[in-house]
Amino acid sequence: MGLAIAHQLARRGQAVRVISRSRNEAAGFVAAGMLAPHAEGLSGQLLTLGQRSLALTPKWVAQIEHDSGLTCGLRMSGIVVPFAKDDERRRYPTAALGQSLTRKGLEQEVPGLAPRWQAGLLFEQDGQIDNRRQLMRALEKACVSLGVQFLEGAEVQTLSRNSENQELQQITLRTAEGEVQHHPCRKAVLCSGAWSQKLVPELPVFPVKGQMLSLQGPRKALKRVIFGPGTYLVPREDGLIVVGATSERDAGFAPGLTPNGQAQLQAGIQDLLPKAGSWPPMERWWGFRPCTPDEGPLLGAGPIKGLWLACGHHRNGVLLAAITAELLSNALNKEIHCEEEQTLLDTFSYMRFARKEEPATN
Ligand SMILES: Cc1cc2nc3c(=O)[nH]c(=O)nc-3n(C[C@H](O)[C@H](O)[C@H](O)COP(=O)(O)OP(=O)(O)OC[C@H]3O[C@@H](n4cnc5c(N)ncnc54)[C@H](O)[C@@H]3O)c2cc1C
Repeated sequence: MGLAIAHQLARRGQAVRVISRSRNEAAGFVAAGMLAPHAEGLSGQLLTLGQRSLALTPKWVAQIEHDSGLTCGLRMSGIVVPFAKDDERRRYPTAALGQSLTRKGLEQEVPGLAPRWQAGLLFEQDGQIDNRRQLMRALEKACVSLGVQFLEGAEVQTLSRNSENQELQQITLRTAEGEVQHHPCRKAVLCSGAWSQKLVPELPVFPVKGQMLSLQGPRKALKRVIFGPGTYLVPREDGLIVVGATSERDAGFAPGLTPNGQAQLQAGIQDLLPKAGSWPPMERWWGFRPCTPDEGPLLGAGPIKGLWLACGHHRNGVLLAAITAELLSNALNKEIHCEEEQTLLDTFSYMRFARKEEPATN
């Protein structure tokens, strides 16, 4: 989120500084990169947000590729969601937006799919992007080429407000070399992912750990993403298959892989595509999704005047990067273009949680 917003602001000629504790811990490098509002079965305003972002993504990627000179690995590969029974398919929240598949259709789309899957939905409009190897690096380079300043290895420790007008006044950070610095600051965007509550305690953002692995399959072994319950397989252009993911709500910020988590992924591969069980594993990694109680992001004005929010994107932050960058850079520049943008900002305001906590009056 930080890179995507910095890039859009820099494109509008603004001076931006990205303060990052550790690029390597960012979930942006962990994700599978699915662009899947339909396959994920999103609903309501979150589906609208996802669809808006999916529609913006090709133009957004073209801008990043232009500014960086690097490719991002966007592939509109389509995503297949398999079901054991046809009535599960009918009940899927986005069933009406997908193409329904029989067992024969499933076999055509995903040769080798395990026999227990008898029905499916094909979402041709969903896709993927190679976030881990391409998009994040391209975004960094695009930012640098547009003059964005980077403070890598710097941890923001406090955000201070002016006691008179309550506006954001100063950021205190600790550099990689251990120096504590105070930076005057009137405008900032909080993009600290799963760690956001540590800086702004009133934000209900918590980590949901995810473990991943990759397999080297034969090139073109899989043309579609397979999105099974609990496990998905995302085929990159060169035959690398990204497999995800555990969803561990009780793990907190516990680092590292676990035997249980990795065994769960292995069982998921076997359950979906048995032949992939013999493809060699390449890499294993983990990270933290920034989740909120309703699993929707926190966007727009924050609890301190001058502090904007772009956090809590949970399992769809790669998908939602394009719309988040657009909405936040419009809002920061007071350039909200249409009623729909304002509605999205209102819907995903952090105030929806503050409102719920207000005591009932009678
Ligand atoms: C296993 C897994 C699979 C996923 N798969 C998908 C997918 O297929 N599709 C999809 O759309 N999304 C997916 N996601 C979700 C997506 O990765 C996240 O929603 C998204 O990356 C969140 O972006 P962010 O910028 O908010 O947080 P992050 O990418 O985590 O970045 C937060 C940054 O803030 C920095 N930071 C934190 N605190 C401080 C501080 N005090 N000072 C300075 N810096 C700080 C961190 O160092 C980090 O670099 C997945 C996530 C996981 C974990």
